[in-house]
Amino acid sequence: MRIIKIGGSIQKDPNDYHLIAEKIKKFTDDKVIVVTSALKNVTNELLQVTNEPEKAVSKVSEIIDRHYDMLSKVSNGKVFEEGFQLLSKVTDELAKVAWAIGMLGENNPRLRDYVLSFGERMAVIILGEALRSYGIDARPITEPPLITDSNYGEANVLLPETKERLHALLESVKSKVVVVPGFIGITPEGKYTTIGRGGSDYSATVIAKALNVKEVRLVTEVPGIMTGDPRKFKGAKTIPRLSLEEAVELSQLGAKRLHPKTFDPVFDTDIEVYVEGLYDEGFTVVKGACTPSDVLKGIAVVEGLTLIDVESTRMVGRIGSAAAVMTEAQKANVNIIAMSQPASETSIQLVVSSSDAKKLQERLASLKEFVKDISAIDVDAVSIVGCGLQRPEIASKVISSAAAYNPISVSRGMRRVSLTFIAERGQAVELAEELHEVVLKWIN
Ligand code: ASP
Ligand code: MG
Repeated sequence: MRIIKIGGSIQKDPNDYHLIAEKIKKFTDDKVIVVTSALKNVTNELLQVTNEPEKAVSKVSEIIDRHYDMLSKVSNGKVFEEGFQLLSKVTDELAKVAWAIGMLGENNPRLRDYVLSFGERMAVIILGEALRSYGIDARPITEPPLITDSNYGEANVLLPETKERLHALLESVKSKVVVVPGFIGITPEGKYTTIGRGGSDYSATVIAKALNVKEVRLVTEVPGIMTGDPRKFKGAKTIPRLSLEEAVELSQLGAKRLHPKTFDPVFDTDIEVYVEGLYDEGFTVVKGACTPSDVLKGIAVVEGLTLIDVESTRMVGRIGSAAAVMTEAQKANVNIIAMSQPASETSIQLVVSSSDAKKLQERLASLKEFVKDISAIDVDAVSIVGCGLQRPEIASKVISSAAAYNPISVSRGMRRVSLTFIAERGQAVELAEELHEVVLKWIN
């Protein structure tokens, strides 16, 4: 058996479905569970429905029309009619919900998840019927495969219950290809939940873990995870293999926006995750832990950051000063992207998104008893990822290449497979280019 996840960004016009069907056909020598995201942009639009109740009805009718239109373009005859019937059930429910939202102006996390669930439930029908039109023995199942707790918006998967549900599903559905919704779950009480934006990748790996399936394929617009953003780096290429820890670091740094939990279910298993393109050949396989042949893999740059430097001799040896600084960030609802403190304890440096900087600086200024100076400069974060960074000879080569650009600070990531340099904005681009060259020299 295989799990194949089909992203939303590659479901935007009828030709996409043709390519998707061609891809899935290649794997029908064995049973396939296809996990789908909502069609391109639909999740964002459904979010607007809950945020602007006065427009709910008109917005929803537009979304519904788009799905019927797509269904009519990817199927016909009996397949279309069956799809139409399935889709009507879901869209009637959605239209009613939109009407209620318009009337009541309600918006809460539970309702939001309920509304978002329609994106994936409708997508399952479009994709399922499209595959059938191309002669694949497929069956769309609109109900979520995952059982979760009721932490709406970021629900946690309940693995034993999900296992049971999946086994029952496979028992009752004999089609070769079963199409299920990603991103959404259902509580034991029957309420719809979501597992976090971009969550269908995670749905796919969780299903693999629950069913002990050894191969997951995440199909997206890009043919794998690349050594760097090809718009920024000359010679950027697809990385053939990533260890799990490298994949976690690179995807968190934005090399390809994968849900943060995507690789969690795969750790310490022999599951292989392929990240592959729909339009172009090429893939990255993610499997196993670091091996000696994993050297350097890729670069990621996070731009638009500000480094806030809190300085004072009064912080030295004082228990709770770091906590006080961090608490201000928490109170200001500011995410800390990187941080550091020297052993002299005379300064604490926080790197935050530039759009949060002012808010945080104002708050920190209130810590008058022990903070003396607060300064801020524009920076970018340049990260390099590879298991080879665990080895002194490779780490020192990278650090000495970076040294010429005088980075402000350096920190290591999970299991020491990444190094992040914080550099002044003007310096970061060149530093990143230099490090990308180093990666290209080492990549296998
Ligand atoms: N449709 C959901 C989202 O846009 C889940 C996903 O795309 O993976 O966040
Ligand atoms: Mg998506």
